[in-house]
Amino acid sequence: MADTILVTRSSIPAMEEYIEEIASMWETHWLTNMGPKHKDLQQQLCGYLGVENVELLTNGHMALELTLQAMNLQGEVITTPFTFASTTHAIVRNGLTPVFCDIDPITFTMDTDKLEKLVTDRTCAIMPVHVYGNVCNVEEIDRIAKKYNLKVIYDAAHTFGETYQGKGIGSYGDASCFSFHATKVFNTIEGGAVCFTDKGLGEALYDLKNFGIHGQEEVSAVGANAKMNEFCAAMGLCNLRHVEEEIGKRKLVVERYREHLENVPGIQLNAVQPEVKPNYAYFPAIFEEKQFGASREEVFTKLAENGVSARKYFYPLTNTFTAFHGQFDVNETPTALHISKRVLTLPLYADLELEDVDRICKIILNCKN
Ligand SMILES: *Cc1c(COP(=O)(O)O)cnc(C)c1O
Repeated sequence: MADTILVTRSSIPAMEEYIEEIASMWETHWLTNMGPKHKDLQQQLCGYLGVENVELLTNGHMALELTLQAMNLQGEVITTPFTFASTTHAIVRNGLTPVFCDIDPITFTMDTDKLEKLVTDRTCAIMPVHVYGNVCNVEEIDRIAKKYNLKVIYDAAHTFGETYQGKGIGSYGDASCFSFHATKVFNTIEGGAVCFTDKGLGEALYDLKNFGIHGQEEVSAVGANAKMNEFCAAMGLCNLRHVEEEIGKRKLVVERYREHLENVPGIQLNAVQPEVKPNYAYFPAIFEEKQFGASREEVFTKLAENGVSARKYFYPLTNTFTAFHGQFDVNETPTALHISKRVLTLPLYADLELEDVDRICKIILNCKN
């Protein structure tokens, strides 16, 4: 049997490059607490992401969680269930109530035709997700947010380096939260960031990621510990040098998949969005059993038998998690339910061989016989 192909493989720089980047720490002994690597990465990311401000954190989840805390919100947050556990958990862990909006069947992002009806006098914010790097309907979300005076916090974990209409994706909404987890397009091993315009929000985040300590003798908020350490920031500095090249290689992989799977009846691929510079973060495929001739489960199993790990991403929906004890009705998000039962994300990383893509597609297409 051929080698196992995992769904993703973390990007890492040459070992020598990383060693060179961290060598100065043996002189400074500055390992964490907003040291020189942290400052350098913060500055470089402002430039690369095309945003005014970046606050670095331990991970993408704390970016979401502390942004909500920094905004001092109460009541309901409208979000979608077709996402990673983190989005919904960040809301619930802040004592806020998630209200689930359905998703668009083409982009899998928040269906803005269904959004306004969910606004109540208890709504305080909207937390949409740029799923798979697909950009949300930012204009309509902005219109509704302004009309009802709501905060908008984007879960931008999948959109590192993307632009929409030439503007950095992190410059939309009140805040955008990125993940730099090992599995993402850009990683700092573990890490995350918030992009924002309001300097007051930035100051609150800076304190909250360090226990709420404000100056030497004042603790003004009940913060957490979510500071990015110097070794992670150094990994980020190295990976940032190569990220454009990595995205270029991902593009070739995605194009190869499309050659094989586009126009196959019963397979829906990710939408190509005009005015978006994509980052090729994921390759989702939706299998409609009747037209394709095999179910998502059959394709998943057949791939696994051949040493290829695909992922049911996102399944199950967050509004069905046992952790929520039946508080939410999944039938209120029928499109999300439909997609979550049929989607597989296929292996995708910069160094995935194109011959392996051919092999994966052959296994998939053989399922219908
Ligand atoms: C990865 C991810 C997160 C969480 O980021 P971590 O860095 O793993 O904490 C949040 N939302 C989405 C959509 C993600 O994919």
